[in-house]
This record gives sequence, C-alpha cells and structure tokens, in this order.
Amino acid sequence: MPTKAFLDTTILTDALLKQNEQGRCARTAVSRYDITELPTYAIKEFKAGPLRNYVWFYNKVVSLSSWEDAVATIPSVRRQFNKMSTALQALADFEGSISKALPSDFITKHPGRTMGEIKKKEAEVWLKTKIFYAWMQRRHLATNVVEPLSCYEERDPVINKHRLIIDKPVHCPTDDCCLRSQFTGKSALTAELFKACESLPAKAETTKRRQILRQLVRHPERPLEDKDCRNLGDAVFALQCPKDAVILTTNMADHSILAAAAGVSAEHP
Ligand SMILES: [Zn+2]
Repeated sequence: MPTKAFLDTTILTDALLKQNEQGRCARTAVSRYDITELPTYAIKEFKAGPLRNYVWFYNKVVSLSSWEDAVATIPSVRRQFNKMSTALQALADFEGSISKALPSDFITKHPGRTMGEIKKKEAEVWLKTKIFYAWMQRRHLATNVVEPLSCYEERDPVINKHRLIIDKPVHCPTDDCCLRSQFTGKSALTAELFKACESLPAKAETTKRRQILRQLVRHPERPLEDKDCRNLGDAVFALQCPKDAVILTTNMADHSILAAAAGVSAEHP
C-alpha cells in the first residue's frame, strides 16, 4: 500500500519559508511518503498567517526610512507572538544569507551607500523574493492540492506603486463559509471532534474551536462566518484527512488528539 500524508500548515510553512534545520526536516519528511496531499485550507492559513507576517516585515522595511527603524519595529508586535517570531526568523535568515557574502561585493553593487542603506535595500529584495517564491511553490510541495474551498479566492499577492506588497484577500468573503456543509455533512465525526476538545491543551485557541464545533453540532443551520472558519483550525485537517493517510504536522499536541477522534493518526517530521 502506498504511504500517504495529509500536510498541515506547519509543514507547508517550514518547508517553504525556513532555511534552518526545521525547514530541511519538513522537506525531507514530505519526500518520505509516496503521496502527499495539501488541503486548500492550509494555503488559506499560510497566507493569512506566516506569509502575512513576512509581508508585514517587508512592508516595514520598504516604508520606514531606515534599516534600524525596520528592525526596531519588530518588538512593537510582541503581543502578537507569532508575528514577532516570524519576523525574527525572517531577520535571522536574512542576516544568515548576507553574512556569507563579501563586504566588497556590496560596496561594488551599492557605491557610496552606508551599511544601513545597503542592508535595507538587500533586505527588501531578499524578503520580496522569499515571499513570492514561497507563494509560487505552495502548490508544488505536495503531490496534490485537495479539498478546494468554494468561498475562498486564492489570489496572488501584488506590488503596488509604492513597492508595498498587497496580499488581500486572506479571508473567506462570505456570510456562510463552505466548511459548514463539510462539517454538518459528517455530523458524527463533528460530534467526536467537539468531544475531543476537552482533551486539547487549555488555551484560547481551544476554547474558540470548541465553541464553533459546538455550534456546528447543536445548530448546524447557523451560518459559519470567516472568523469561525479560522477558529476551526486544526479540526479542519482531522475532518478532511483521508482514512488511508496520516496528518503530517509539527503540532502534535493538538493534532494527535483531533486525529485520533477522527480515526486517523498524526506524525511528526
Ligand atoms: Zn470559507
């Protein structure tokens, strides 16, 4: 029997955006399976989360007057932990890439510029390349992209006349997301996922996920808003994962429990 993995957003993110060991680990793990499937929901989460955080940092580098200002803006989002850590990761990867170059190369390429000006310009190009390359590769990591979302438009990011990246839309522009019928169509499984939330790590994310699964069980006719679609998060992978596949993820704490409730299993790269 061929081996099959259903990839979650953590794997897509590590494989496409990280230069470090985590990135290599994700890419190697993906290549171990005969077949890999990536649900469109992972692309939606990737664009609204990690990629958006790269775009945020890129736009800061372009719009602020100096490299120091761009770097100094990172701690200003410390309350948004994921955004700050993604920006720091991007900064570390950028520093890693330029540290391998010779200073004389930059002096030839940017005559008469200060180090700060050179870094700002190089970071702009590096981040832009990273963002557009990752977006371009999103549908090439897995063997197949599956489970299309009819209410979500997977539009390419663009650059405006001020060199800023516009990445909208990142949401489902609808009052009733297509995931509602997917969940209510499998009511027994949805009820199992709801029950499994009791065993998930106690955090705000779990509370929100539990609330929306409860709504899907008790009031299946109630419209599912975009924020509900986002809050379902990992439950979507458990629902959509084929029975002959495993969920490949770095987030075992949530996925192992939800996958078990759906009669599949989760694996770490
Ligand atoms: Zn939707």
